Amino acid sequence: MSAQTIIIVGAGQAGASAILELRANKYEGKIILVGDEAHLPYERPPLSKDVILKPESTKVEILSAEKLQQLNVDVIRGNAVQKIHAEDHSIVLANGERLSYDKLLLATGGAARRLPYLDALGKHIYTLRNLEDSQALVPVLQAGKRIIMIGGGVIGLELASSARFKDCSVTVIEQGPMVMGRCSPTVLSEFLLEQHRAKGIDVRLSTKVANAELRGEEVLITLENGEQLFADAVVYGIGIIPNAELAIEASLDVDFAVKVNENCQTSNADIYAAGDVATQLRADGVYRRVETWENANLQAGIFARHVMGVEHPKANPAWFWTDQLNINFQFVGDMAAQTWHIRGEMDVDQGADSSFVMFGVNDDQIVAGITVNAAKDMRHLKKMISKNTAFEAEKHLDMTQDLRKIA
Ligand code: FAD
Ligand code: NAP
Repeated sequence: MSAQTIIIVGAGQAGASAILELRANKYEGKIILVGDEAHLPYERPPLSKDVILKPESTKVEILSAEKLQQLNVDVIRGNAVQKIHAEDHSIVLANGERLSYDKLLLATGGAARRLPYLDALGKHIYTLRNLEDSQALVPVLQAGKRIIMIGGGVIGLELASSARFKDCSVTVIEQGPMVMGRCSPTVLSEFLLEQHRAKGIDVRLSTKVANAELRGEEVLITLENGEQLFADAVVYGIGIIPNAELAIEASLDVDFAVKVNENCQTSNADIYAAGDVATQLRADGVYRRVETWENANLQAGIFARHVMGVEHPKANPAWFWTDQLNINFQFVGDMAAQTWHIRGEMDVDQGADSSFVMFGVNDDQIVAGITVNAAKDMRHLKKMISKNTAFEAEKHLDMTQDLRKIA
């Protein structure tokens, strides 16, 4: 490996993971980690869950200062990269400093998509992407407060769940016909919707906000049908925009996100991208962006191995999880599977005691799986998908058959 200096732009999930993967793959050169946040790398999944519910006891740090020192990493924080000069392999920081690299990783993540008409109100309006956003919500989500969540995606539902646990009165406004519609099959989305409603969360589907205004210390939201709702605070989670500006300015190939090949290389062979900012060419010839914790780690690994000339292991089917209302949901594989089959009982009345597994099937083959409070079964589902297992209802849905043995 000829690279002597690797610069990682973005001290988040993919950035931290890239450091661990480089050192694990015996990279001995210089690593410079540049982050625009004041913090050392931290994880985002707890921000909508435990940081809100248990702010004192929740740890989010991925790599401590000691660990970074052990790994021999030069850390620059609170200083954004402002420009990449690809032609001479250098970057310029916000403080004007110029640094040279042999290889560069863009791990800049994404930013919450903004709704200017809400931001213009100036107060009582929140979004959630970083630690400060989460900490700002802790005093807001207090018992008795009326909270309106705009967006019924993962952020909307996880925060609705956390707010409900804190005895807030919660309304979710989702423009589409289902919750978590971007990443969940309809049958599970309906189950989730009923769970939220059963806990007293008022979920409105296929509804848009027509107007928002401040009325003293309250926000008045008017829906398209004319209905008016008052809130003490409005939180919106309507997706992210990849932080791709550096790549655009450096004339890399960008299509909303930074386009990368199977090795996470951009259109410039010495610049890689990983995590939420990247859209990767998949085996089926289609570019796909995956906004998950696991994907950030996997792509960081792909980058590190490619730099070190190490072969990649066979890719596993994509996996992610969400925790809502004391229920753990895990998803693997193709959520657009043609048919879904339930092993166990899907009964909304069981609430947090629910436990079942779902098989997603295309042309008789298992291509996806979901566990609901059944995390121990996830590895069996992953195995069945990887082995192209044929779905056999009488076997796979029979609760007397041990999944471990038939996987
Ligand atoms: P990030 O972790 O966002 O890191 C990018 C970093 O780059 C940031 O620190 C950013 O400030 C910095 N940066 C940007 N531009 C520059 C610049 N020019 N110079 C220097 N630094 C820069 N996924 C799951 O699978 N399960 C979950 O339960 C889950 N929960 C989540 C909860 C929340 C609230 C959020 C926001 C996300 C959650 N995710 C979850 C998604 C997961 O956290 C992301 O997919 C993951 O963090 C992406 O990693 P990343 O490194 O690409 O981006
Ligand atoms: P998301 O999952 O993409 O969901 C956004 C939702 O908001 C979609 O249902 C979208 O509907 C809806 N929406 C868009 N515009 C709207 C509007 N004007 N009014 C009402 N609804 C609107 O994004 P997110 O929930 O904001 O999450 C942001 C990021 O955090 C993502 O990267 C996500 O992966 C990550 N995250 C992940 C987890 C997890 O994996 N457990 C948890 C929290 C956050 P349409 O689809 O119809 O546009």
